This record gives sequence, C-alpha cells and structure tokens, in this order.
Amino acid sequence: MDNPVNIVVGSHIWVGDIESVWIDGLVLNIIGEDAEIQTSDGRQVVVKMSNLYPRDAEAPATGIDDMTRMSYLNEPGLLHNLAIRYAINEIYTYTGNILIAINPFQSISNLYDPCVMEQYKGAPVGELKPHVFAIADVAYRAMITNGKSNSILVSGESGAGKTETTKMLMCYLAFLGGKAASEGRSVQQQVLESNPVLEAFGNAKTVRNNNSSRFGKFVEIQFDKKGRISGAAIRTYLLERSRVCQISDPERNYHCFYLLCAAPPQERERYKLGNPKSFHYLNQSNCYELAGVNDAHDYLATKRAMDIVGIGEQEQDAIFRVVAAILHLGNVDFAKGEESDSSFIKDEESKFHLQMTAELLMCDPNALEDALCKRIMITREEIIKRSLDPLGATVSRDGLAKTIYSRLFDWLVGKINVSIGQDHGSEYLIGVLDIYGFESFKTNSFEQFCINYTNEKLQQHFNQHVFKMEQEEYVKEEIDWSYIEFVDNQDVLDLIEKKPGGIIALLDEACMFPKSNHETFSQKLYQTFKNHKRFTKPKLARSDFTIVHYAGDVLYQSDHFLDKNKDYVVAEHQDLLIASKCSFVSGLFPPPEEATKSSKFSSIGSRFKLQLQQLMETLNSTEPHYIRCVKPNTVLQPAIFENATVMQQLRHGGVLEAVRIKCAGYPTHRTFSEFLSRFGILAPEVLEGDYEEMVACRKILEKTGLEGYLIGKSKLFLRGSLMAELDAQRTRV
Ligand code: ATP
Ligand code: MG
Repeated sequence: MDNPVNIVVGSHIWVGDIESVWIDGLVLNIIGEDAEIQTSDGRQVVVKMSNLYPRDAEAPATGIDDMTRMSYLNEPGLLHNLAIRYAINEIYTYTGNILIAINPFQSISNLYDPCVMEQYKGAPVGELKPHVFAIADVAYRAMITNGKSNSILVSGESGAGKTETTKMLMCYLAFLGGKAASEGRSVQQQVLESNPVLEAFGNAKTVRNNNSSRFGKFVEIQFDKKGRISGAAIRTYLLERSRVCQISDPERNYHCFYLLCAAPPQERERYKLGNPKSFHYLNQSNCYELAGVNDAHDYLATKRAMDIVGIGEQEQDAIFRVVAAILHLGNVDFAKGEESDSSFIKDEESKFHLQMTAELLMCDPNALEDALCKRIMITREEIIKRSLDPLGATVSRDGLAKTIYSRLFDWLVGKINVSIGQDHGSEYLIGVLDIYGFESFKTNSFEQFCINYTNEKLQQHFNQHVFKMEQEEYVKEEIDWSYIEFVDNQDVLDLIEKKPGGIIALLDEACMFPKSNHETFSQKLYQTFKNHKRFTKPKLARSDFTIVHYAGDVLYQSDHFLDKNKDYVVAEHQDLLIASKCSFVSGLFPPPEEATKSSKFSSIGSRFKLQLQQLMETLNSTEPHYIRCVKPNTVLQPAIFENATVMQQLRHGGVLEAVRIKCAGYPTHRTFSEFLSRFGILAPEVLEGDYEEMVACRKILEKTGLEGYLIGKSKLFLRGSLMAELDAQRTRV
C-alpha cells in the first residue's frame, strides 16, 4: 500500500508494527534510513523509515464512513478508522461499494427499528449513515429501475454476524416488498419464518459462535412487476454431517435435539426422551444449555415457525420422531460376538434403545439389528452375510444416523421451498448469500478444502466486480483505465477444479480405485503439481499438502479426504428404511437411480463443484453487493477491538485486496473543489480572481512539479504516493 518514501520532517505518521498495534506521531528529524519520531503518547523514538505510514491529520475524530475517501489507504489508517467508529457504536463503514459490518455483540438501541427502515426507504446512498438497510435498498431500487436481478453476498468468519445480517436484509426486503397483511400466511412471513426452522436443524453451538450455521445458504427472493415479493427459493450447501454423532466439549449437537428433550412432558413421553445427558450423541460434551436460550420455549417457537412455513402437525410429529430415533440409535452399543469379527447388541439397555429406534422409524427391529451388524456380500457364486465387528457396527450405526439426519435436513429445505412457492414468471430476484468465510485452522480437512474453494470462487467474482467498478469510474471521467491492474486467482481455481487433472478430479479417481488410500492420493498430488506455484509439499510431509490461497497458505491433512468425499448410502440401510411403515421415513429414502447404484460412488466434491457452478451462474446474472462481516475479538464480547484479529479478516474477506486494486491505479479521487480547498495554499496566486476549477487544479499540480495524477471531468485521480507528497509540500509552506 502507501509507500512511506514521501515522508518528510513534519509529516504525520503511523509507526508500528508490533502485532498490528500502531501509534500516531510526528516526524522530527530524518537521518538516512531512520526517522526520529515524537509519538502522541509523549515518547521520542528512532525508527526505520520503512516502518512508517503517512497519516491524515485532518481526518475527523469520529472517523470516515467511506474508507475509499481516506487520504491514505494504508493498514493502520483503515484499522484506526474502523476502531474509532466501533468505539462509538458505528458498526457499519463503507469501503467503496463494500459494506463492512463489525459485530457489536450487543444490541444497539434503535439500530433496526421500523422507523429506521422508513428513513432508509428510497434514500440516496451516502446521504444516511452506512447501514445494511442502505445496501438492501440500493439492491431493491436497482432491481426496480434497471429491471435486473441483484444479489447481496454476505461473508465473514464464524461468529462475525453473517446470519444476523442476512436476517436484517430479509426483514428490510420484506418491509419494502411485503404485501399488506392479508389473510393467512404471506410469502414474506414464510420467508422470514424459514430462518428459525433452518436454524433449529442446521445450527449448533461451536467454540466460535453459540448459534453457528453449519451449512451455507442462498435465499432467492422473487418479486413481481410491482416490486412485491411473489416467491422464494432456498438453496443450501454442505451441511456438516459429522456433528450428528461426534461433538467435543464445549460444543453442542444441532439445536433440535436439545429442543426436543425440553418439549412438554407428554411429547417427551411419546418419544421416550428425557435428560439429554443420557444420550451418547449429546453427552460427549458437557454443554447442554446455552446462556440466554430457553430450549422449552424454542421448541414451541420452532413448531410455530413450522406451522407458518407450511409443515403440518403430522409432518412435525414425523420429523421429531426421526430426531428422537437418532438419539436412541446413538445409544445402541455392540459387544464382541462368539465368532470372530462378529458383534451383537451389547445389553438390555442397548436393546431397549434399538427397540425404540425401530418403533420411532416404524421399521422391523430385527431388520434394524441386521442392518447395523451385518453386510451382504454378493460374489459370483453366492450371497454371503458377513458380520461386522463391534467397531464396524458402530461405524455403521453412526453412518445411518448421519444419513438420516442429512436427508431430514434436505427434506425440510425442499418442503419449505414447495410451501413458499416459486414464482416462475418472476421478472427479477434479489439473492442473499450467507456462506462460510475462509478457514485456516491448525488441522484442516476436506471441509476446509471445500469452504476455501468456495471462497476462491467468490473472491474471483469479487475481484472481477471491483475491477469493473473501478473501470466504470474511469470511463465516466473519460480517462484511460489501462492503469488498473486485474488481480486474478484463476490459477488456484484451476488447481482445484480443473477437469481432468485438478485436485477434485484426482480425489474422485482415488475414491473409485479400491487400492488407493490417502497416501497414494497425496503422492499423486505431489507428482502432478510439482511445479504448480499455488501448491506445495511441506518438507517431510507424507500426505499433507499446502494450497497457496488468495488469503494465505493453508496446510491440509489428507487423511480423511477419501472417506469424506464418498457419499453413498449403504444398501442395507437403504433397504431397511425404504421398507418403513411410516411414509415420511420411507420418503426420505427414495430408490436410488440406476446410474448411481451401479457406480456405488457419488462424489461430494464433484457435486459441490456443480452446486458452486450453478451459484456462480446465478450470481453472474445479477448485480452484486458485498457485505463483509467482521468479528472484532475472539472472546465474543462487546467493546473489544483487536487489531490483529480484524486485520486478518479484512485480508481474508478480500477487503485489502480491493484496496490494493484501487492502490495499483490512482486510488485517491478528489473533486476539483475538494482538492483546491486542501492544496490551494500551494499556489494561492492561482485562486485570485475568477478561475476555472479544473484549470486551477492543473496549475497547482504543475507548480509542484510532481507526477502521478490524471485529470477527469469532475475529479482528480491521484496516485497513492502523490497525496503524501502534496501534504509534505503543504507542511513546508
Ligand atoms: P457462523 O458462520 O458460525 O454461522 P455468523 O457469521 O452467521 O457465524 P451470527 O450467528 O450471525 O454469525 O452472529 C453471531 C452472534 O453475534 C449472534 O448470535 C449475535 O449474538 C451477535 N450479533 C451478530 N450480529 C449482530 C448485530 N448486528 N447486532 C447485535 N448482535 C449481533
Ligand atoms: Mg451463521
């Protein structure tokens, strides 16, 4: 970003950087490469010039609400601006067209009141403070005036506030496009009430967020010619399946399990449920309750929301029966049988839970036991029933639980879609995307791989858009735009998704080849991408690999890639459930299509790739708007702003990249009059008598002898360093 070479004696600067902590100061003296600084906290220090960044001493103390309007676009400046705004509860700030939203972790009074909605309705952007409503309003107006679909992409890391932001956007769109309250359920009400239903089944407490969405979501709200909501469609992505049977302290399983355990007594009795502590799928973690959440209350609220989205009483009963069945299933344990490698149901308690599971799923208990403990092998000569050992039976049990749960979740999404109804004749739509941000943990597996792949896709879309917007600004001012650099990440995308030869394709190959394992898969990757500049094999690694993502390097452990990429329902489980006497349960297991049956393997990675392609096609046909949610601290507390935490997210969210694209060209745009009021002092003679603003600006710039500007029709476009040089000249006047 901004180059510090233009710093002179008297310049206002930022000095750092220890863990992204910056302090402001004034340059007293320059000796060679070093500068003597008077810091604002009263110290005098000598630092390398290269550690200094110019600071705008004239920036208002309450911050600037559009960061692209800052005189100096550098890291400390951006951070400081966000921090001072956050301190006065200004959680929203623009960076050009991007809205940055910093999670307040507390409710800010009146921020989302109906009267605030009223204010933002139709207000020109920039007139009011930055707000989610302003973004939704722009999208809506653009749709009405240009007759074009719009989309709002909300991203950020877990706990940053994406889902809350998405809900605000949907509320505001419902406010703009809602039909007057008529009888029965309105479309907008159904759209809004789909949120609590999906959250009950798709959200869980994690270490990062007490209400973490464990799936991605794209909600498409359709409008009629009059701009009224006429339908909606919800698409979801990659629900985390492993959580159903495996959780670690202090996380929780999906909310619905706890809600059901807190249901009114007669319902708990019907499903033979009691204390959540008695269920293996819940008691692997010591966390059962959430601060500020009443599960009994939420159970009833979820049922009410289900009523509104059109899930009938009988279906609700079937849904909760399936949820209860999963809990009972988790309590079925196995012991080693007499024959080697065989197993049986461990004890009376396990038998009780097996019986309960069978009753709730309305299937035959013996068939259930067989489906859990045995596998049928078909050879050319005969059909053999092979027993599984206790470990194998447990894996089979957990597999069944995960399959049932993910089918249930998909059913809910499908049902909500049917019940809200799609408006196929809709002229246009506004899509709202609430999807997981870039992830880089100590250990990263297939899930992170898919998530980061998503983010690469969205980043490309974002770069193209930012580039296009910059270009349009230059064209509007009738100046040459060949100066703006286009940053592309197509090479990472090729590495991941190219067919044939990309990582996903190689993974599918490995999954289909019986002798492959994660090590042979990794060897293949090492060989294929030996010279790829986005791929590295860490020294000494046997199966780990690193991808150089736009947001940084991520080291992936390939151990479970093959397993996690395989999506097939064990034939025994399929046969068991398709035979259920409950039509709801058998409906979750329609007979597989012939094609998938024969290959016995369907790839999660490839299917996800296809889903992403479809999403990108939709997004490409819309006018996008971006909201970057930021988590100000890792302790989830209000009023704490950690520089390093925020900086990393700005980097991951592509905000710095956007700023970089700007900086590569002529990032500082000033109208002629703004320029004259700040720099007129450099050539007061120019401003005597009558003058034409553009001519005056040119004369001043010529007098300074500096280079690095373009003159547009109404604005000056200045190189990043030029502003600092001009300020430096001004301090000498
Ligand atoms: P995940 O990726 O885990 O789903 P997320 O980005 O969707 O995370 P949210 O669930 O939206 O995060 O937000 C986390 C919590 O932060 C909320 O439960 C709420 O307590 C708080 N929060 C977020 N946004 C706001 C807001 N605008 N005002 C007040 N509190 C908020
Ligand atoms: Mg969320």
